[in-house]
Amino acid sequence: MIPYGRQEITEADLAAVQAVLQSDWLTQGPAVPAFEAAVARRVGAAHAVAVNSATSALHLACLALDLGPGDRLWTSPITFVASANCARYCGAEVDFVDIDPHTRNLCPQALAEKLRIAEGQGRLPKIVVAVHFGGLACDMPALKALAGRYGFRLIEDASHAIGASVAGVPVGAGQASDITVFSFHPVKIITTGEGGMALTNQPELARRMACLRSHGITREAVEMEAAFRSEGDGPWYYQQIELGFNYRMTDLQAALGLSQLDRLDDYIARREQLAAAYDQALATLPLVLPARLPGYQSAWHLYLVALSDAAGCDRLNLFNALREAGIGVNVHYIPVHLQPYYRRLGFAPGQYPQAENYYSRALTLPLYPTLGSDDQMQVVSALNAELAT
Ligand SMILES: *Cc1c(COP(=O)(O)O)cnc(C)c1O
Repeated sequence: MIPYGRQEITEADLAAVQAVLQSDWLTQGPAVPAFEAAVARRVGAAHAVAVNSATSALHLACLALDLGPGDRLWTSPITFVASANCARYCGAEVDFVDIDPHTRNLCPQALAEKLRIAEGQGRLPKIVVAVHFGGLACDMPALKALAGRYGFRLIEDASHAIGASVAGVPVGAGQASDITVFSFHPVKIITTGEGGMALTNQPELARRMACLRSHGITREAVEMEAAFRSEGDGPWYYQQIELGFNYRMTDLQAALGLSQLDRLDDYIARREQLAAAYDQALATLPLVLPARLPGYQSAWHLYLVALSDAAGCDRLNLFNALREAGIGVNVHYIPVHLQPYYRRLGFAPGQYPQAENYYSRALTLPLYPTLGSDDQMQVVSALNAELAT
């Protein structure tokens, strides 16, 4: 079976992890700050906080932006559930904004309209999570303009998009958002096994996320509450100043991430090459191919197609036929508002028609840096066999 995505582990990766295993620190050593500094430098962000998953990074980002009970977070329905769940961890409400059918990202016009109505009702969101679906960045300048007008904060869920850029500016530079989150799960662009990172240009947000990552404990005198200190406190002294978590990344993971980061540019170039080959080979089939926008370099985490009306078969039949042909196609994503957990919170089918329409036609084709051209042509042949008329 040709999978839809998979990691690549090289000799250099193995050596990097082995070096940590034979060192003095398996966790809380030098590899995590080195990985944080390298990612921050690569994307042009001032601060980076490495954690054990992007899910944890989203949670910390919401906490650092003071999301709590009575607050609202809005995001796209076409995403992994974690983009919405982060609000629920904080006791806040979730709502969704329909997608733009062309980019398949949260639609800025739909957001503007929803904000206008919410303002009248006194129900504006505190945070909007912009998801760069498949690796293609959202229209961040448009979202930033709305954030300025309506006073919400912006998190970029860039779990799919490390290595992507807009007008040459890397996703993660944070020019239009408060915090950007990357995932290092094995199906994503680079991996640490499990892992994630939150990037920001605001030192106070970075400090807060770093503290919450490790139980809410600080050893920095400037952060401590002086009233609780006493005369005999020595070098061992620390304070827990709020309720945090153990969301730390290990040095083993960070060493793997650092080694993988060396290949980020090669990975994006290879993914771009494979995406261009799909674009060309599939152009005449009844499929809507991924959008290409001037100035936008996608990270091509996913190659997402949608069956067009002209297709003579439905998505389920096509999916099954391709799986039988050994092609590990997938579907991204079941709209989050249709999940039983969110249905119980009151969401219902029909609320986000563009998202639901996209989902009903969506198919994710195999795409990863080690996908060979022969294997890719096997995917194309199987699609031709099912769809060519
Ligand atoms: C994978 C993913 C996450 C969660 O990442 P983890 O590192 O597995 O926690 C969050 N958001 C999106 C859009 C994702 O694809």
